[in-house]
Parts: sequence; structure tokens; C-alpha cells
Amino acid sequence: MNTTIKVTLTDHSKINEVDFNNLLFGRVFTDHMFECDFVDGEWVNPVIKPYGPFEVEPSARVFHYGQAVFEGMKAFKDDNDTIFMFRPDENFRRINKSAKRLAIPEFPENLFFDGLTNLLRIEKNWIKKGRGNSLYIRPFVIATEGAIAASPASKYKFMIILSPAQSYYNQDVRVLFAEKYSRSADGGVGFAKAAGNYAAQFYPTSLAHEKGYQQIIWTDASTHEYLEEAGTMNIFFRVNDMLLTAPTNDRILDGVTRKSVIQLAKDNDIEIEIRRVSVAEIKEAAKKGELLEIFGSGTAAVINPIHGFEHGGDIFDLPKLENSYASLFKQQLMDIQYNLTEDPHNWRYKV
Ligand SMILES: *Cc1c(COP(=O)(O)O)cnc(C)c1O
Repeated sequence: MNTTIKVTLTDHSKINEVDFNNLLFGRVFTDHMFECDFVDGEWVNPVIKPYGPFEVEPSARVFHYGQAVFEGMKAFKDDNDTIFMFRPDENFRRINKSAKRLAIPEFPENLFFDGLTNLLRIEKNWIKKGRGNSLYIRPFVIATEGAIAASPASKYKFMIILSPAQSYYNQDVRVLFAEKYSRSADGGVGFAKAAGNYAAQFYPTSLAHEKGYQQIIWTDASTHEYLEEAGTMNIFFRVNDMLLTAPTNDRILDGVTRKSVIQLAKDNDIEIEIRRVSVAEIKEAAKKGELLEIFGSGTAAVINPIHGFEHGGDIFDLPKLENSYASLFKQQLMDIQYNLTEDPHNWRYKV
């Protein structure tokens, strides 16, 4: 098996055409990408080459049956130009967990990290210093075999593309608790970063937008009585000084940020219960003025405070807090990510 990465560099960098102070999320990509093919039962021919379109047969399984998984992670630069990733081993494990569920062959660990670190070193100028700046990393796998039989493909492409990102400032996020639609079901693929999970949310989310809500908090598919997670974020509730979050299961994505927030809560002696959280108890707490915060956690926004919600026609606004848990966790996570503080749990990964 040939696992030496062949590198072809572009002769025209786009970096000077990019306005790094006005980046929309996921619109601009760096000069190069990583690509590796699965053929005859092996991952072969890893290459780094100029970012750009490529040919795939119209009959490729990915277009018909959504056989595709992805990851989302970030690289950061500290004041000395050292590059770090945040817990990339978690993303490596997760992409293979997702792949396995979608009958996609697992990707080798050494190639994942070699591809990633080589690509990041080539694109180091695209990672800007300063709090909030990062390079969003999107590894993904697609079924490329041209054959429309409804069965797993025998050919795949693993790729990594990179997009410079700024932490978007938190607008006034308000959410709808799901009462009709579901994101995932028992025994399904909700725990996987499977492409189709996201397409299935677009329509219900657009209905929420029409009502003035940015996102939906998904509830369990069978009763809609328990709060599970947002579309791309896990979710935390603060009732008085107690944090609550749902346990992960086959319907909920096991977020790296979620895991890190749970650890930070313990480090800060904040009480946290990982258990089913009912819509009824959250509405009750809100009525009593005991619901102090709701926030989402995910790689893209890190921590995203939620200021209000609607369920069953009842609308609730949350208080504006001075010292929120959300801002504490965001600060502490970013301090670790930008190498501004100790890293007691070894979350930083030097590139
Ligand atoms: C990616 C994702 C998250 C957040 O996971 P992180 O590892 O923290 O980025 C949460 N929920 C869903 C559905 C996701 O796709």
C-alpha cells in the first residue's frame, strides 16, 4: 500500500484575495486539499493538491443514497505562530464511528493525522492569530463508485478541505422546541455525522425561521417530551446553579465541545446532571424564574447562548446574566485552544 503523500502545490495562491475580517462561515477555502481513494479494499494514493472541482460519475452512490459522513474541527495559532488542533483524536474516532454505521470503510489513523498535519503546515498562512480566528477543518468521505444498486459502494473518496473562520458574534438566538418533526430515531443514525441528517433538518428549520426562530431544539422522536440537542450543537440548561444536559445515545451526537464543557463544569465545581431533561421541567423552571441559561456547544460557535424559546404556543425569554456559565466556558475553552493557559487534560494537539 502506498501511503506516502504526494504533494502538488498551486502556482496561484488565492490568499491575497480574501478579506479575513469579513468571512462568512464556510464560503472561502484554502489553496489545497487532501484526497485519498478507497479502491480494491484499501485506502491508496493520498495526495495534497490544489483545491478545486473533481469528476465523479453521476451514478455515484453518494448522490443517490447519501452514503457520506463528515467531521468538523478547528486549528488555531498562538502568539508565537504555533499551530494547535483541539482534541483531534476525538474527531478521528468519531468519523470512523460514523463511517461504520454508514457501511463506509474506516480510515487509517496514521493517514488521517499525516494528511491533516501536512495540509495544515502547507496552509499555515491561512490560520490567523488572535482570539476568534481559526481554520475550520472539514474531513469527509463519499461513496464514489458508479452504480445505483442500493448497497454499499466499493469505492470511496476521503477528503479534507479547510476554510478560514471567525467566531461569529452571538446574535440574539431564539429557538423552537420540536413538537412535530424529529432529527433522529432509536436505532437510527443520529449519533453519526451522516450527511443526510442535516438535509432532513433544513425544511423544519426553515419553518422555524419563518416564525422568527433561528434553530430547533430537537426532542425525542417517540414522545417529543425530552430535549435532546440542536441541529449542530449539543444543548445545556442551567436551572438555578445546576447544569443539565441529555446523555448521549444513538439519537444524539457525542460532541467534543459537550464532553469538554462537562469536564470544565467538574473542574469549576459546577454541579452537573447528565440525564433526560423534560420539556415540562424546563418550562416549569422558566415560569418560576429558575431557568437562568440555555446554551449550545459545538466546534463552529464553541458556546452559543440561547435567549428564548417557544413550545406549545408559550414563549419564554431568559434573563440577561452578567456572569453566565456560557461565557465562563467559552472563555476557558478558547484560552486552552489559543494556548493562553495550562492544558490540564491534554486537549491541545501541536501541529
Ligand atoms: C457536530 C455536531 C455537534 C457538535 O459536536 P462538536 O464535536 O462539539 O463540534 C452536535 N450535534 C450535532 C448534530 C452535530 O452534528
